[in-house]
Parts: sequence; structure tokens; C-alpha cells
Amino acid sequence: MIDTSKFNPTYLQAKAPEIFAIARHTHSVDDLRASLARMANEMMFEAFDDYDTISEGSIVRVRDCAKVMIRLMTRRSEDKARFSVARAIFDIAHNNPRQDLTPAFYAELLYLFLGLQGRGPGSTLADLHLIPSRYAHRKAAIERSRQLDELYAEMNLRLTKFVSGLDQEAVKQREARQQQICARMQASIDQWKDWTWQVAHILREADEIAQLLKLRETEYQAIQKARANGLPFGITPYYLSLMDDTQDAEKDRAIRAQVIPSPAYVEKMAEAQRFGHCLDFMLEADTSPIDLITRRYPSICIFKPFNTCPQICVYCQRNWEIDDAMQPGAMASQKKIDAAVEWIRAHPAIHEVLVTGGDPLAMSDAEIEAILERLAAIPTLERIRIGSRTPVTLPMRITGPLADILARFRENGRRQVAVVTHAQHSYEITPDTAAAVDRLRKRGIPVYNQLVYTFFASRRFEAAFLRRILTRIGIDPYYTFNTKGKEETLDYRVPIARLLQEQKEEARLLPGLSRTDEAVYNVPGLGKNYLRATVHRDLISILPDGSRLYEFHPWEKNISRTAKTHISEDVPILDYLQRLAAIGESVHDYGTIWYYY
Ligand code: SF4
Repeated sequence: MIDTSKFNPTYLQAKAPEIFAIARHTHSVDDLRASLARMANEMMFEAFDDYDTISEGSIVRVRDCAKVMIRLMTRRSEDKARFSVARAIFDIAHNNPRQDLTPAFYAELLYLFLGLQGRGPGSTLADLHLIPSRYAHRKAAIERSRQLDELYAEMNLRLTKFVSGLDQEAVKQREARQQQICARMQASIDQWKDWTWQVAHILREADEIAQLLKLRETEYQAIQKARANGLPFGITPYYLSLMDDTQDAEKDRAIRAQVIPSPAYVEKMAEAQRFGHCLDFMLEADTSPIDLITRRYPSICIFKPFNTCPQICVYCQRNWEIDDAMQPGAMASQKKIDAAVEWIRAHPAIHEVLVTGGDPLAMSDAEIEAILERLAAIPTLERIRIGSRTPVTLPMRITGPLADILARFRENGRRQVAVVTHAQHSYEITPDTAAAVDRLRKRGIPVYNQLVYTFFASRRFEAAFLRRILTRIGIDPYYTFNTKGKEETLDYRVPIARLLQEQKEEARLLPGLSRTDEAVYNVPGLGKNYLRATVHRDLISILPDGSRLYEFHPWEKNISRTAKTHISEDVPILDYLQRLAAIGESVHDYGTIWYYY
């Protein structure tokens, strides 16, 4: 566990004597705001001016911390955040009691102040290797290559800590699990391979799952409570076979977390239902010009003809409109489908449609064909994108005939068809998934992945390993989504700083075609905010519980002066690190996380 006792006012003041000397001699918070902003600016100027005495890495750190410090000190930030970091510093310096400030808040200030001085933890990856060579030409290249070999060996050690569902041991284990489950469910292997059998036997009750899998008591209770409260829930027998039949399961943590809700989630969801709280976090209601359609961008829209999935992801952003796994009546009426298709036809700006839901590949072949036929008849549509998690949850759904149907609507030079899937973890990727993807790619249908960067996929190199396995089976990484600020999914959330650290440290070590994904934050009502560059957001405050408060600028800010910004509260970094420590991670390994803003 992390020793949090040092994150207190005394330690903080000892580590940043200059800042607190100023704070102690200032008589008002307004004066302090101006003094600290000036001081941060001077520190940045000095770092660039003394460039020959401090390292490049330190200059960048001082620059980033100074920018954050200045932003935190502005009145605009304080007003938007309804919290004053300057007031907190003032109170700490003047020994005014501040019971509201937590160790996570002190930790944030500590690392910010250290960073302003060009100090703080360095990267455990970068410091070991890649030292500038004293040679030139071929000799330098050989030396660089040697260092890169060492770096790769280091990286590979970390990558191979994770398991893939393609590993021989996992394949054998899953074969055995499949036979066990078939025997208990009195099913033949042919039935197992038939997606309609899988869908007809979705597992929905804690007791039936407990017959097939060792459930922890908390899991059992959470499923029971979820069902009692009518929360959507279901697992395909295939996906259940990916879980290890041991209670102390480690490898399948991400797989279980994907479908088995946590007690806190069930509690929050039940409460939201009781009080009638709206769970439409993405404000789809505000971006839906007609039933079944969502439009956030000029040339693409979402079309949702089928409102359920073979199994339900716990943190699904549409958990407010999906009633249950494969619930009857999920298919939209013909009248609504007709109206939606006509709406697309009437908007020629739309040249791409994302058919999603729910999971559209859980519809029958005939229903899919009918919808694609209607869409393909719209002359302005250049791409039909199908969002489906079935390659991962139900790979037997991607039959040859289904792949033929999808391919039939691909007309090179006129219209493409693509599948966007959602794989969360390398342990989910099996030979069945690989075969399903292959059936699509052989027919000219590309397959992309959208990863949701949850706690369960966020250890060092965990996502990098997934990308490597995905590209090995022909899936191109497309987006990595920061988890959304929904209260009920707190157990899944990861600070933005960790996603940035992953992208800039681990992902950067992979070849370009293995890291084609873009890290994004989906701004409610507005759409994707690219996280890679800080020009799209500002850190405006650090709240008493240590959460960072970000102001996101919408994608259209450069073409519309009236675009509104969106403010979102992150999860405290210290809390996240404590959770990592609790599952055996070395927190030292994540040291630079504090400096990704
Ligand atoms: S597959 Fe997509 S739509 Fe279906 S439950 Fe999961 S996140 Fe939601």
C-alpha cells in the first residue's frame, strides 16, 4: 500500500519553501493568486534561460507545471470550479484549519510544486536506456540499436506478464471449460457453435451461473441484487467459458469486470432508478433529431435499429435505454426504421452511418440484410460502419453467410462497409475471435477496435499488449476512450493522466501501425475531444478530494466562436494508485503520472 501519511500540510510546506514563504507574507488571496502566477511564469522563464544547466526533461516539466499553476490561479478557473486552490494554499500557509483537504489533494500540490522546481519522480522506463551516444555514423547507429534491444527486452518482460487468449495454455483451458459447460447445459458442440443456441441460453441468474463458474460471494450478491432491481444483465455461455473457474482468478479480472457488476454499481443504479435520475450521460436526447438517429458531427450519424445486446457491459453508455440482454421487442418498428432511413436520405451531408444499438449483429441475417439494402440505396452514403461486440462476446455470430451479406454492400470506389468492435483485454482474444475477424477481412471488410480504458485494462503495458494481439489477428486499434464521469461506474474510472501516460510512454514504444488509436474523451452532447494535445482542454482546478477538474473545448471551437466548453471532474490520482497497489502493482512504476495534465 502507499504511505499517504506524508501528504499533509507540514510535508508540503517543507518541500516547497519558496511558495509558502510568499504565501505567508501575502495578506489576501487575490494578492497570492497574482504572486503565485508571477512566480510560476518566472520559474518557467528561468528554466528555459538556464537550459545549459538543467535537463531537457526538467525544462518540459517546469513548463507544464507552470502553465497549470497559472491556470489554477485565474479568477475564471476559480469561478468555473467554484473552488479556490489559492485560498487553500493561503489557509495552509496561515495555519487556518481546512478539514476538507484530503491526502489526495496534498499529493497533487506536492507533485505540482516539485515539478515547478524541475523535480519529482522520473520515468522508470526512459531512465534505464537510450542514453545519447558519444559516437557518430555507423558506430552511433550500432550503439543506438544495442540500446533499443535492451529497451525492447525490458518492455517485453512487462508485456509478457499479460496473457492472451491465443496462448496454447489458455486455448486448452477454454476447450476444457467449454466441454464442462456443454455437459452441464446438456448441449452438443454443434449447438455451442450455433450463435442462436448461445443467444437462447444467455445466462441471467446468479444461481445458474454459480453452477458453471466459481463466483465470489460479492459477485453472487451483486448479480442477485442487479436482477432483483431489474438491471440489464446477461452473459453468453461462450463468454462465460473465457472466465477461469477459480475464485482467486487473476487473469480473467477484466473479463469478469466487463459483465459482472460491482456492488457499488448495483447500488448506484438501483438508487438512480428509485429517484428517477437520468442516466443519459452523453445527452443523446439532445442530439437525436429523430427517433433512432443521433448526430454530433457534420457528415456521420448513428443509427440504432436494434436496442439490445447478447450480453451487457456493466458500464455501457446506453445503460439507460437497454432493458435487458436480448430483450424481446428490441427491434425498432418498421415505421421508425423507415422514418430514420428517410431522414438520412434527406440529409446528403451524411455520408457515413454507424449502425449500432445495442448490437446490430445480434439481429437475424434477414433483418441485417434488409437494413443494409435500405442504406445502400441512399446515393450519398459512402460508408456503412457496423458497431458490434459480437466478435468478442459471440464470435460464432460472424458466420460465412453473414460476412457474405456485409460484403455484398461493399462496392469499391463507391461504398465501403466496416466493422468496429470492442475488445477490452488480450485474454478475451481467442482463436474463435481470430477466425471471425478473418472471415470479414477475407471479404474486404476492415475491423477496428474501440477500447474503453477502464481500471481493469490500465496496468502498465496492458493496453499495449492488447493492441499487439489485436493487430496480430487483423483488428486495427481505432479509439481509446477515457471512462466517462458517470457516478455509477466509479469502479471503472481511470484518471486522464494515466491514459496520457500510457499513450506517451508505453504505446509510443510500439510500431505506428500497432498504435493507430486516438485517445479521446467523449464530451456529453458534443462528441470526441482528442486527449493527445493539451490545446483541447485546460486543467482548471484541483478539488479538495484530489480530483482534477478539466475544461474541455469542443471539437468545433476553431470554426465556431460560440461553442460552449464542458467541465468534467476526474478521479483522484492517489485513489487510483492505491487501487493499483491493492492488486499488486508497484506504484513506483507509475511515478510520472502526476505530470500528465
Ligand atoms: S456491446 Fe456496446 S451497446 Fe452492448 S452493452 Fe456493451 S457497450 Fe453497451
